[in-house]
Amino acid sequence: MSVLSLADVYRARRRIEGRVVRTPLIESQTLSAAADTQVFLKLETVQPTGSFKLRGATNALARLAERGCRKVVTASTGNHGRAVAHAARALGIEATVCMSALVPGNKVEAVRSLGAQVRIVGNSQDDAEHEALRLVREEGFAYVPPFDDLHVIAGQATIGLEIVEALPDVANIVVPLSGGGLFAGVAFAAKNANRAIGLTGVTMARGAAMHASLTAGRPVLVDEVETLADSLGGGIGLENRYTYALTRDLIDETVLLDEASIARGIVHAYRHERLVVEGAAAVGIAALLDGALPAERIQRGPLVLIVTGANIDMKLHHRIVESTPVQSDPLNPL
Ligand SMILES: *Cc1c(COP(=O)(O)O)cnc(C)c1O
Repeated sequence: MSVLSLADVYRARRRIEGRVVRTPLIESQTLSAAADTQVFLKLETVQPTGSFKLRGATNALARLAERGCRKVVTASTGNHGRAVAHAARALGIEATVCMSALVPGNKVEAVRSLGAQVRIVGNSQDDAEHEALRLVREEGFAYVPPFDDLHVIAGQATIGLEIVEALPDVANIVVPLSGGGLFAGVAFAAKNANRAIGLTGVTMARGAAMHASLTAGRPVLVDEVETLADSLGGGIGLENRYTYALTRDLIDETVLLDEASIARGIVHAYRHERLVVEGAAAVGIAALLDGALPAERIQRGPLVLIVTGANIDMKLHHRIVESTPVQSDPLNPL
């Protein structure tokens, strides 16, 4: 726990202030009724790039800019890539995102439209990452990792600060878990405020690299499987430096969900909370609705679910919602 300090987290908060939204924490009436305890949603869906990743990217880039760095590179095509592009433009530095030729055109355009340079290389995510690391070695770019970086973790940790400030009696926080940057940061900030706060990681049952690594007792590789929670895919890195150990030391339990459950979470968020959320962001709601969270934890008191992002393909969202009949609408009962 000592690699990261609370001072790092407060510095991150000062750096990102005014560049990142201090997001609302709202009570969900339907989920509170379902769980028989107060349930709150921390809405990272309202960040300018549609996910919390803007916090870590903005902190990492602002710190690099303070040190005179003018160009950064990453290889993420998802929420981290968008966040780096957005933060770079806001800070007036140059961002390059390396992508393989297999990345769909709409994702390439999304990053380009945020002002980043896109470099298309090879036919796999590995090829794209190799190119990013070559730019670091040979052309003086700074690499911005998606999760395994202390400044990225400190940026995500500002969510934990905001939660304990807005809700001092929070008893449990439920965090979508992939590379663990979000989990490590939030858990670090929350447990520093109150060691008794429970921290639950939620992820999909198949292809969950952090869960497999925690079970194995060291970082391991997993096969990537398609999932509705696409932002939770990908490995944690066999050379993982920070997030594996922090997650292992701070996590109370991991909950695994199947695809049908994740879909139910997306539909519930839409119909009952009036929120469009991506699969990765729906896992906390899904875990609660499916009774997958330990009952003794829910009974301890107010629960916060971090709703991490809104970046779902709207055609996919439509299909998921359409395939579930409307049963009852609490705001407009039949
Ligand atoms: C990246 C991401 C996560 C997981 O964050 P990690 O730091 O990789 O564990 C969860 N939800 C969304 C929407 C994300 O983009």
